[in-house]
Amino acid sequence: MAEPLFDRIALVGIGLIGSSLARVIRREGLAKHVAISSRSETTLKRAESLALGDSFHADARDAVRDADLVIVSVPVGASGAVAAELAPALKPGAILTDVGSTKASVIAQMAPHVPAGVHFIPGHPIAGTEHSGPDAGFAELFENRWCILTPLPGSDPEAVEKLAAFWRRAGSNIDTMDPQHHDKVLAIVSHLPHIIAYNIVGTADDLEAVTKSEVIKYSASGFRDFTRLAASDPTMWRDVCLHNKDAILEMLARFSEDLAFLQRAIRWGEGDKLFEMFTRTRAVRRSIIEAGQEIDAPDFGRHVAAHPEK
Ligand code: NAP
Repeated sequence: MAEPLFDRIALVGIGLIGSSLARVIRREGLAKHVAISSRSETTLKRAESLALGDSFHADARDAVRDADLVIVSVPVGASGAVAAELAPALKPGAILTDVGSTKASVIAQMAPHVPAGVHFIPGHPIAGTEHSGPDAGFAELFENRWCILTPLPGSDPEAVEKLAAFWRRAGSNIDTMDPQHHDKVLAIVSHLPHIIAYNIVGTADDLEAVTKSEVIKYSASGFRDFTRLAASDPTMWRDVCLHNKDAILEMLARFSEDLAFLQRAIRWGEGDKLFEMFTRTRAVRRSIIEAGQEIDAPDFGRHVAAHPEK
């Protein structure tokens, strides 16, 4: 096994992402010591019984004290309060990062609390599932997925490279971009699909013309694929909507315009327009498979490829 990259890593928040990090850090020997903290006693105890780290702390300050790398993995709306709590205990020279799904808002919330001499380098692994909590994580989550870093102007290049090396050892490929660009890109590739899924599943749930048992019974005809996204964590997704408001509203406006185009083509029986669009979209899926971000299997490949026991 290669040398540990850090002496002490502190994981603040030990849900799906935090616990996946804990597992890959252990598997790859990325730290000599992993200190874990979570808000609730229940989650912290569960992390301890899963042996996800070397020490467990009710107070996040005790976890981050002396840590060389601190990774905050909490809902984006909580990042400011968590940063305020941790800040006084951070060691000079430490790297502080996060995994939040929105970046401009997280930076606005966390940066003001970061003491001089601490390297704050925000990040976002483009990897996840609809499950939450410390039991949901797995070491392979980040394998062949992208991790986007959004360093602030003037960040120390050595610290950025060290964090990138950490993610590469966890299996990820690295991109860097500015936070506003990140938020726009993620609004279309992640946030909008979740909102559409929440909406369609909500609509089906409200329908009185079709009984709920029929919705469930015949779900394999398409509906089922939306329910995976719509089963995602409500706290996380409430926060994403509130904290990437502008980019999401912009993408929703474009989506509504395009939906009106489809609606019109259906109304007027314009089969050629529908066919042309459906052909174009089919090619997008082929490109995703070719880029290694999906396999061509009926359950989208996630269960077989990423997590054999799930
Ligand atoms: P999760 O499984 O629900 O775990 C959340 C963790 O944050 C738990 O340790 C929880 O502590 C803690 N927490 C919740 N509310 C808090 C608050 N108000 N103050 C302090 N701590 C709080 O969530 P996750 O899926 O790992 O998501 C964590 C972060 O990763 C989010 O920012 C999300 O945007 C980002 N992310 C998620 C995915 C995904 O697919 N899930 C993918 C990429 C990035 P207790 O359990 O002790 O309350």
